[in-house]
Amino acid sequence: MAKVSPEVAALQPDLSKWRRHLHSHPEIGFEEFATTEFIVETLSQMGITASRPGPTGAVADIVGGRPGPTIAVRADIDALPVQEENEVEYRSTNAGRMHACGHDGHTAILLGLAKILQAEKENLPGRVRLLFQPAEEKPPGGAQALIKAGALEGVAHVIGLHLWSELPTGTAGIAPGPLMANANEFTATIVGRGGHGSAPHQTVDSIVLAAQYVTALQTVVSRRVDPLQPAVVSVGTIHGGFTFNVIAPETTVTGTVRSFDSATRDLIEKEMERILQGICHQAGAEYRFEFRRGYPAVVNDPVVTELFKRSAQAVLGNDAVIHHPPVMGGEDFAYYGQVVPSAFLFLGARNPDKGANFPHHHPRFNIDEDALPIGVEVFRRTVYDLLAAKA
Ligand code: MN
Repeated sequence: MAKVSPEVAALQPDLSKWRRHLHSHPEIGFEEFATTEFIVETLSQMGITASRPGPTGAVADIVGGRPGPTIAVRADIDALPVQEENEVEYRSTNAGRMHACGHDGHTAILLGLAKILQAEKENLPGRVRLLFQPAEEKPPGGAQALIKAGALEGVAHVIGLHLWSELPTGTAGIAPGPLMANANEFTATIVGRGGHGSAPHQTVDSIVLAAQYVTALQTVVSRRVDPLQPAVVSVGTIHGGFTFNVIAPETTVTGTVRSFDSATRDLIEKEMERILQGICHQAGAEYRFEFRRGYPAVVNDPVVTELFKRSAQAVLGNDAVIHHPPVMGGEDFAYYGQVVPSAFLFLGARNPDKGANFPHHHPRFNIDEDALPIGVEVFRRTVYDLLAAKA
């Protein structure tokens, strides 16, 4: 059983109320206007003044009564373009919008942390910066804009968590190093020369070249990438041609590329273009190649991770905090880790008895609200431990 202090346990009604309010009023990335109002107003009722570094999102500092470093804690606040199918009284009232990833819970946890720290700030040895970040789900994401606006100035570390539907309530998962993948898209267009299907010798057949390309791409991961580095190159679409007796002048191949390390991503991008160039060159075709980089991988700093893990163990028990394997999903928390040593944790919120057992982004996704005070306690403990370690 999680060891949650009485003052944090007493926050449960507030946490549920805030989370349910947000759940019934979901807004997608860069449109979180009412959400931002709610956050700023709720903080203001606690006596905390928030600033607004952009059109949506908020940042607030809790300044401790004792000197010390600054630790930032991040919650993402956006919902998804999903139509909710849950039959709960706090279901979404915005058609086609839903908190289907648990960011309503992240926001409530950070508000709960604010309330607790504000009440005990005289004893806080340093400063805690609360980052209510917009648009995690919508590339380019809200993290980069917050960083540009100066949200990490003077910050020693950033910590964050994701409520996780694959881990039972009362458990958590974390690991040092790459935890979530970088995710990228590519578009390769082969430009040949069209003509009559009966006279291939007068043409440059882009479909034959696209077929060679798709086959050759299979050697990028198997023959070019270090076998100890996980990577994926998947072709999602091939489009070319008009009808059965016409040679297609142009064929376009698109797909996704994922890995955990940026050198591997760079290598894959280079190899993919080199192969395309070779295939087109030998046949006298031209090509266009575009590789669009998404979020980088979330890479957990080993020192911050170890401390985060121990703090979580102090709340949840040693065996309840597992060494979590990397997941192929992406997260723009990654950008904070590129600026200061940071760490991200998966907090269990699965409870089949409460219907909280659907995957993230599912129209029936839900969380176990018992995870909310646990999140507050894990953050609170980690903040104090980090402040003490840096002092
Ligand atoms: Mn999410």
